[in-house]
Amino acid sequence: MIKGIAASDGIVIGKAFVVKESVLELPRYGISPENRDSELARLKQARNKTQVQLAGIRESLAAKAGEKEAAIFDAHLMILEDPMLTEAISDKIVQGSNAEAAVCDACEAYACMFDAMEDEYMRGRAADVRDIGRRWVNNLLGVETETLADMQEAAVVFAHDLAPSDTAQMDKNKVLAFVTEIGGRTSHSAIMARSLEIPAVVGAGELGAVNSGDTVIVDGCSGEVFVNPSPAVLAEYQAKKVKYDQRKAQLQELKDLPAAATDGTTFELAANIGTPKDVEAALAYGADGVGLYRTEFLYMDRTDMPSEQEQYHAYRQVLEAFGDEPVIIRTLDIGGDKELPYLKMDKELNPFLGKRAIRLCLANPEMFRIQLRAILRAGVAGNPWIMLPMVAVPAEVRQTKELLRQVEAELEAEGAEFTRNYKLGIMIEIPSAAVQADHFAQEVDFFSIGTNDLIQYTCAVDRMNQKVSYLYDPFNPAVLRLIAHVISCGHKYGKFVGMCGEMAGEPLAAPLLMAMGLDEFSMSASSIPKVKAVIRSLDIGRCRELWERAQKCTDGKEIRILLEAELKDIL
Ligand code: PEP
Ligand code: MG
Repeated sequence: MIKGIAASDGIVIGKAFVVKESVLELPRYGISPENRDSELARLKQARNKTQVQLAGIRESLAAKAGEKEAAIFDAHLMILEDPMLTEAISDKIVQGSNAEAAVCDACEAYACMFDAMEDEYMRGRAADVRDIGRRWVNNLLGVETETLADMQEAAVVFAHDLAPSDTAQMDKNKVLAFVTEIGGRTSHSAIMARSLEIPAVVGAGELGAVNSGDTVIVDGCSGEVFVNPSPAVLAEYQAKKVKYDQRKAQLQELKDLPAAATDGTTFELAANIGTPKDVEAALAYGADGVGLYRTEFLYMDRTDMPSEQEQYHAYRQVLEAFGDEPVIIRTLDIGGDKELPYLKMDKELNPFLGKRAIRLCLANPEMFRIQLRAILRAGVAGNPWIMLPMVAVPAEVRQTKELLRQVEAELEAEGAEFTRNYKLGIMIEIPSAAVQADHFAQEVDFFSIGTNDLIQYTCAVDRMNQKVSYLYDPFNPAVLRLIAHVISCGHKYGKFVGMCGEMAGEPLAAPLLMAMGLDEFSMSASSIPKVKAVIRSLDIGRCRELWERAQKCTDGKEIRILLEAELKDIL
């Protein structure tokens, strides 16, 4: 059995698909004139192999998914056969370059040509060229690779790591579950898995022993993975799966009931979403609005910035779906583990502590203004709340307010339809902002506590690194004290305080957050029923008593044990 970190609930029994990526460094060396012909022959051989592979994928995709899906690979084959590309590569070899470097450089130059094109479809071809280049180089090196694109039937994906953009694009009918060697519960691929309801285990360590085609069991609730299990284990998990599905159906019956404690105190349970596609699940699980709309996914996995109009449509779609319920639109939070290939971002030694989120937006006001314009224009369709990520000092809020004033004046002058009726708030996810929450409360309309980052910065533990995940603890007394402080500062100034970090969806944390008076819990939609069930079974007096006892504990483990004992009949 492999034990990893439980990242997204659900039990899946299926076949494995192992993603094999090339991790080799690209070799670069000179070729002497007498060896150039054999280098050209090597190039041709690898090209033929690439062609056979692509044609194979195309054929099986056409048979399984239809001609439309398969057409993507026609475009790949056409690029591979383009004489202009072949000539550019051969020229480099004739000039003395080795075949791998020649393919890589010529494909990159070719891809840049597509990058610069006006037409959006043509710009999209740049990624195809880079893909072909990688496959060709791997064939030259004799490296076996298999990517998600090679996957032809529904399976459980095993990979070293998955980028948030890979996860965001996953088709739940095809990826039954996934398991990665690295990563933590709050890495963005884990968060995406929860919102797509794809069971997942991350940080599972070395997965070299798993082969494509193996029968596997993934338990996303416990973090356990079995490879080629015995009949007894298989039977045990088949029974567990039936029980899990029944419990899920039971919880779903709470959908239209309020998140009210037994004494009548009510809380808002909202959904975290990444794209307008997530709205359907949020509504199905009975979310009271959106507590976090991670707009960066609109900017990712593409070759250019989304236009104001495109953003307007996306935001409007979500706002319309929720009517009067608040939709908290978080402005672009890029950096850390989320990159934008078209925004030339400098390599940083510590990207999680670097120029990300609000820092990047304020440094690129033109880009930021486009997003603010789109939000204010879409805002007429619903109840928009604008939220700034990674705020560290009040000056960042003031600068954004100034930009908003400019954008409003601009829209007014243009005669555009837009709203001034929005709330402006910040995420509290940096300890300096948490400690100084009383000052911030006087600057903004609301707070939302981002525990994913707040925990990593408070405890100095990388949220993506499974080697230190034992220190990444929402129940760490220092974290709990900060949260209680933020809520009380917000309330002192009459401000609304929510939480949109993953801790809000952790049923065990609910009694403490209820005692502290958190107004809103925002989480992956599928976690709403579990948290609602806990809230509906407790009264505030009991929660306050628990919080009193928890404050006497000196470490997170003790607090966890205390809560588990208290909630054992509920969870
Ligand atoms: C957080 O940090 O808690 C948060 C919600 O933001 P993200 O996970 O996108 O960094
Ligand atoms: Mg964050």
